Amino acid sequence: MDCLFCKIANNEIPSDKVYEDNDILAFRDIKPNAPTHILIIPKAHIASAAEITAENSGVISKIFEAAAKIAKDAGLESGFRVVTNCGESAGQSVMHLHFHLMGGRSFSWPPG
Ligand code: 5GP
Ligand code: ZN
Repeated sequence: MDCLFCKIANNEIPSDKVYEDNDILAFRDIKPNAPTHILIIPKAHIASAAEITAENSGVISKIFEAAAKIAKDAGLESGFRVVTNCGESAGQSVMHLHFHLMGGRSFSWPPG
């Protein structure tokens, strides 16, 4: 499958990794929108949040456990945002589930 984040997960394309285990990978966004901007992905291909099921959802808790640890290690005590864009109208541009972990600045709500 021609999937950019599968290739990053398989080390076919290099990335600036901040956390990795058997199931998930966290790496720095190539075009950061905040001082800390990290993408956290399942290594196994899931196209988007719309494809999460009882069979594959175990990895989601691992992603959020990693997010909490990464945020702590990055010193984001004052707050951070975790967001996933799902589908075209939400702005998803890479069709492999990923969570943006962003911090180091303030964020408005609701997002645009
Ligand atoms: P989306 O728009 O799908 O929510 O987020 C995709 C994110 O992937 C964007 O923030 C974009 O900057 C990032 N991105 C796209 N291609 C690459 C790449 O090759 N390497 C890394 N590290 N990030 C990428
Ligand atoms: Zn993929």
